[in-house]
Amino acid sequence: MRRPLTVAIAALVPGALLGWGVYAAVAGPDDGSGGADRAAGGAWTSAAPSPGGSASASDDAKEPASASPSPTVEEPSAPASAPASASRSAPAAPATGPLKGKVVVIDPGHNPGNFRHASEINRKVNVGTHWKECDTTGTATDAGWPEAKFTLDVAHRLRTLLEEQGATVKLTQDDDRPYGPCVDERARIGNEAKADAAISIHADGSGAGNRGFHVILPGAVHDGEADTRAIVAPSAELGERVAGSFVRVTGSAPSNYVGGGTGLVTRTDLGGLNLSTVPKVFIECGNMRDGTDAALLTSGEWRQKAAQGMSEGIVSFLRG
Ligand code: ZN
Repeated sequence: MRRPLTVAIAALVPGALLGWGVYAAVAGPDDGSGGADRAAGGAWTSAAPSPGGSASASDDAKEPASASPSPTVEEPSAPASAPASASRSAPAAPATGPLKGKVVVIDPGHNPGNFRHASEINRKVNVGTHWKECDTTGTATDAGWPEAKFTLDVAHRLRTLLEEQGATVKLTQDDDRPYGPCVDERARIGNEAKADAAISIHADGSGAGNRGFHVILPGAVHDGEADTRAIVAPSAELGERVAGSFVRVTGSAPSNYVGGGTGLVTRTDLGGLNLSTVPKVFIECGNMRDGTDAALLTSGEWRQKAAQGMSEGIVSFLRG
């Protein structure tokens, strides 16, 4: 029960997606080895976590100062065969395809400039349930490649794939602003776009040996400005489809340190989810502080697969 490896195996079989939610429901807690996302004490609503949440905080919570990336370190890996459209000279072609008329908001976690704006991003914003930092720097690989560059690169690849399917895609930030946006604004951008689906892209900063991806689903929150009750079910469906496609396309296993082997975690402490009124999930694509995961995360070829996995899950969700 502690490590339901069958979950990962089942998920590798195309068509096993319908079983995903069942696994998510029955899987037990992991061994509590203390990843970065475990710190928000009391926030877990999926499996009962082990105590001991003094580690670094969650992804749109405070992350360790030591994780602040060096701005001079460039990406260590070779360029991908399918480069991201980082600079776009022209708008996307007129939307045709199965996702014509659908709006997807992609939220690349953090911002490459955040570390230069500590006072601005440390400002507290109301996330409905409580006040928390506007934004965080994110983590980095041990070699210094920042999460904020990873998230933007994957976001560009995902945007291209979704636009090819006819979707209208909006990014919450595209390294086009000095810092942020704050987590409340990240949610608001999806809401105001009336997104049919929203996804916030991250990579984790947990201990070495902690590996794999997980998708974070919004738990039911009704407090202050936060009211997720209407999005819990569709977000879970979105997340289950993204997780299933991510396993299938990347071959990566679900997290071995949160989610009890399901690759799914429900949280109620993330402002970017609590303030969303549209179906939304976070994905932590891997652990930047684990050497094996970092080798994947820094590979353009792998990031293309990651984006493809997310895209297939989103397309599946939007097509119903
Ligand atoms: Zn992050």
